[in-house]
Amino acid sequence: MALDPGTLSQLIGTIRRFVDERLIPAETEVAESDAIPDEIVAGMRDLGLFGLTAPEDYGGLGLTMEEEVLAVFELGRAAPAFRSMFATNVGIGMQGIAIDGTPEQKAKYLPGLASGDIIGSFALTEPEVGSDAGSVRTTARREGDAYVLNGTKRFITNATHASLFTVMARTDPSQKGAAGVSAFAVERGTPGLSTGKVEKKMGQQGAHVCDVIFEDCRVPASALIGGVEGQGFKTAMKVLDKGRLHIAAACVGLSERILDDMLAYAVGRRQFGRPLADFQLLQAMFADSKADAYAARCMVLDAARKRDAGEDVSVEASCAKMFASEAVGRIADRNVQVHGGNGYIREYRAEQLYRDARLFRIYEGTTQIQQIIIAKALTAEAKARAGL
Ligand SMILES: Cc1cc2nc3c(=O)[nH]c(=O)nc-3n(C[C@H](O)[C@H](O)[C@H](O)COP(=O)(O)OP(=O)(O)OC[C@H]3O[C@@H](n4cnc5c(N)ncnc54)[C@H](O)[C@@H]3O)c2cc1C
Repeated sequence: MALDPGTLSQLIGTIRRFVDERLIPAETEVAESDAIPDEIVAGMRDLGLFGLTAPEDYGGLGLTMEEEVLAVFELGRAAPAFRSMFATNVGIGMQGIAIDGTPEQKAKYLPGLASGDIIGSFALTEPEVGSDAGSVRTTARREGDAYVLNGTKRFITNATHASLFTVMARTDPSQKGAAGVSAFAVERGTPGLSTGKVEKKMGQQGAHVCDVIFEDCRVPASALIGGVEGQGFKTAMKVLDKGRLHIAAACVGLSERILDDMLAYAVGRRQFGRPLADFQLLQAMFADSKADAYAARCMVLDAARKRDAGEDVSVEASCAKMFASEAVGRIADRNVQVHGGNGYIREYRAEQLYRDARLFRIYEGTTQIQQIIIAKALTAEAKARAGL
């Protein structure tokens, strides 16, 4: 349900202060220790960040898509590792249950996910299954009133902290594609479930990914999300549609933050007797960055409003995710250039944000996968118009 304008602007203001006063000052500590301090995680819980999108009936704020992206524009201004801490609860680790779960599954898990007492992870990717997400190899074999899971999931965000996993597994081996895949809610502590070593990543230190391994992991039949086999890929796609707008909004926030950093540096540093900001070649970078960030913001807001109005926004979500993630990459690169040698030095934030931003073009569907989704829809429409 939409918040009234006063409550919404209060929420956005509170998040902005939290980002400015708590998150941005802790960026160096988090990058160096590869961990988010407990008191910051507690602050996130107090602010309700884990439950931004969980339905109100289950203790969440139940934000609309437009409200969510407005909140994420602010949250995205901090180094992306912070958002990662609660993003799986807000998005891919919770939405499968919120959208397609049975009433029992919702009642069991959503309150804990909304409060942040349960950290949820989304386990789709496998060593041999990435962009071709419908070809999941992890199996879930029905045995009486249980399913037995076998397989390995790769690069699973927050898997080390998670107590609940939304797992995509093949229930029908005779169906090679997406139709044979089902989604399961699997609790940590289930015998046969283990997690691998935490991967060393290019950026986003403080956010963690690792393998999740299933070896004869037996879960009750009631763990099947929605209670119907073969719906898992559809659930995953619904989750990713919303997730792509969330990621695009995070890219907008980071773009705007980096542009602020770029300008602050260019105003303060002098060469040839003048501030860097006076040089037209650099001004072109400011202008291009502003246009990139503004275009991304407009796309995200437009797509979010359409989704709230009940429209199918899979093309718009892919456009927004592709454009905003590529845009933040360009802006982060220009920021390094504007910083000159300092842009390459760890003490300045430019090189960290450059590395952090790189991931946005890869996960929740690479740029190439977004291009395929967009182009497939366009060509199908064109063929229909041509009567083919
Ligand atoms: C830090 C991090 C966190 C992640 N978190 C999660 C998570 O929480 N849960 C989860 O399930 N997954 C997660 N992932 C996995 C992520 O979603 C995948 O890495 C991503 O979808 C790409 O899959 P892949 O790595 O197998 O690359 P591949 O699919 O092997 O792709 C390699 C390259 O080929 C291109 N390509 C592939 N197919 C085509 C095609 N048909 N046409 C043109 N180009 C193509 C791709 O665009 C890419 O450039 C995470 C990954 C990382 C790195």
